Amino acid sequence: MREQMNMLNIVWFRRDLRSDDNTALAKALDEGLPVLPLFIFDTCITDELNSDDARISFIHERLARMDADMRPRGGGILVMKGDPEKVFDRLSEEYSISGVFANSDYEPYAKGRDNKIKTLLGRKGIEFNLYKDQVIFEHDEILKDNKEPYSVFTPYSRKWLKLYSAEKPVAKEHMNPAGKLADPGTPFPSLADRKFSKSSQKVRDYDLSVISDYDKYRNIPAADLTSYLSPHLRFGTVSVRKIAAHAYDLNHSFMNELVWREFFMQILASFPEIVTASFRRKYDGIEWRNDETEFRRWCRGETGYPIVDAGMRQLNETGYMHNRVRMITASFLCKHLLTDWRWGEAYFAGKLLDYELSSNNGNWQWAAGTGCDAAPYFRVFSPAAQEKKFDPAAEYIRKWVREIGTASYPEPLVDHEFARKRAIEEYRKGLNRI
Ligand SMILES: Cc1cc2nc3c(=O)[nH]c(=O)nc-3n(C[C@H](O)[C@H](O)[C@H](O)COP(=O)(O)OP(=O)(O)OC[C@H]3O[C@@H](n4cnc5c(N)ncnc54)[C@H](O)[C@@H]3O)c2cc1C
Repeated sequence: MREQMNMLNIVWFRRDLRSDDNTALAKALDEGLPVLPLFIFDTCITDELNSDDARISFIHERLARMDADMRPRGGGILVMKGDPEKVFDRLSEEYSISGVFANSDYEPYAKGRDNKIKTLLGRKGIEFNLYKDQVIFEHDEILKDNKEPYSVFTPYSRKWLKLYSAEKPVAKEHMNPAGKLADPGTPFPSLADRKFSKSSQKVRDYDLSVISDYDKYRNIPAADLTSYLSPHLRFGTVSVRKIAAHAYDLNHSFMNELVWREFFMQILASFPEIVTASFRRKYDGIEWRNDETEFRRWCRGETGYPIVDAGMRQLNETGYMHNRVRMITASFLCKHLLTDWRWGEAYFAGKLLDYELSSNNGNWQWAAGTGCDAAPYFRVFSPAAQEKKFDPAAEYIRKWVREIGTASYPEPLVDHEFARKRAIEEYRKGLNRI
């Protein structure tokens, strides 16, 4: 038995950066021992990013807010940087830890990391407790009648909504007032203290007022009337239970989008091989052209297709792109330029402030036609038709492509009709290869 004196529990924040309705924090506070809040800038992740990455700045800003909330209660967040295994090894020497509480993360890297931490802590007699928090339903809660995972959205969503209406998970607003927080013994560090610098890009606040009319405007990029919840759901700066409870009676299409988020999460949890392979394996027979010059023009927003270029420039300037335009730009790269979806997925992953492996991979594979429940490969978006339908007055285009209509705007990189036929032909050949 570990010595009861001076023992504490650690709550390890990862992608759940809030104090309200945070399952791991609530469970830890209910235990009675003082709780030391911890965040680790995991160098296995941050070493791959620029030191002024906007996502790091956002995490830091939200940790600072949480720290400020906790200081009056005698606590605060211990912010470390390093390999989590080494950090826990050190902390277990410095503190008498009873248990570590955290919310589950379902990405393959995170699952591997958590298994290692569980083994390390287990050797030291410390419990490692994981809780459901970033989803309403985990992958094994919504299964087909034969207990297999769903790979088609509509029946998945039907079951999800049925279970939701039966259970309606409730959000808990406040931290247990009787729970004790432990003092980290250090002031809250600056970004520079952890060898990062501040980004010029900022994560926008989310807006729930758009939900009631969401279905009317969600496909119009110029209206800019979507919720901007994605980075907040990604980093857990808002509780998904709270958002779902708010949206459930207000707007069915919005609720459906929350279900898409969980659909792709359960796909990743059940089929982790999709990180590198096509969900439908026969699509790995496609011989992509992968022309680097064309890819760079797509990245810069210089394809000569205004709606594609507007989207890529919005992404490059702000770290965000409207969903309809994400679909158009992704389809253009895979079908018009016959470039491997993994190239585009990686580019988005580097730029999107809401980057989420499951949604990014799921949507890229959807656009490429290689994914579960994807559009048929022979359906190729026409950028001009999409423009006409969703940005008829070219408002969105003019906002991001300032030189539109002048001689400095480039000629189209490829002719639409030629590219459409080429894509269908190459996909057909690829499907016959495997
Ligand atoms: C090629 C491509 C890549 C994408 N990559 C990501 C990504 O890395 N991270 C990410 O969060 N979303 C991704 N999406 C989905 C979607 O574009 C964004 O979630 C949405 O644009 C974010 O803006 P919003 O919060 O204002 O969304 P809203 O339209 O207000 O939707 C509310 C919430 O529903 C969820 N949602 C909406 N659409 C989708 C969808 N198609 N798939 C999964 N969840 C959805 C998100 O959590 C979103 O915040 C991608 C879509 C495409 C086509």
